[in-house]
Amino acid sequence: MLFIDIHTHNKIQKNFALINLFPDDISEISETKFYSAGIHPWEVTKINIPKQLFVIENAVKLKNIIAVGEIGLDKLRPDFELQKDVFLKQLHIAATYKKPLIIHCVKAYFELLEILKKENLSIPIIIHRYSGNITIAAELIKFGCFFSFGHELFNEKSKTPKVFKKIPVKNIFLETDDADISIEKVYEKAAEIKEVSTEEISEYILSNFKFVFGNINIK
Ligand SMILES: [Zn+2]
Repeated sequence: MLFIDIHTHNKIQKNFALINLFPDDISEISETKFYSAGIHPWEVTKINIPKQLFVIENAVKLKNIIAVGEIGLDKLRPDFELQKDVFLKQLHIAATYKKPLIIHCVKAYFELLEILKKENLSIPIIIHRYSGNITIAAELIKFGCFFSFGHELFNEKSKTPKVFKKIPVKNIFLETDDADISIEKVYEKAAEIKEVSTEEISEYILSNFKFVFGNINIK
């Protein structure tokens, strides 16, 4: 059974994982692993933006950097306008090189939807650690969005398990992000909430992975 981890910051992996890199980590990549690379919205006020955008643009030309991310919008962090500008620039890089997006979005789903309406993208989009509601999810699905879930599935006080239950299986992914949890446990929890077997969850996610990333050999 495959336990694809669609978003993690842990570079040591036994399962297939999409390891997230920030511009400064890109020199460390291994040819046998797969990555996403992008400027995180938390970093935009601290970095030399043109320089790091240049790094990202060169990185996405590499075969094993298969997504641009995590990039996005975060209302709880400073300089939203600058975040938006850096997000848009990376979104255009992704569109140019036809790489899917891994998006970090906190309290900014309305703004994200506005951008998606305007940009008319044809690349798949994965919103990692999705924290919106089901109505917004339905809107985002119209723009080709997928939703990834991780340790929040274990938090019964949050709305995440209820939202996850309602999102169509053809739009889901699972992740560990920066949590100290195994991806196998996340799959088990996801199966329990969806009331299917872990094998079925694994098959759905493999098929979603193929839809988003094409024929990448992940074994
Ligand atoms: Zn992350």
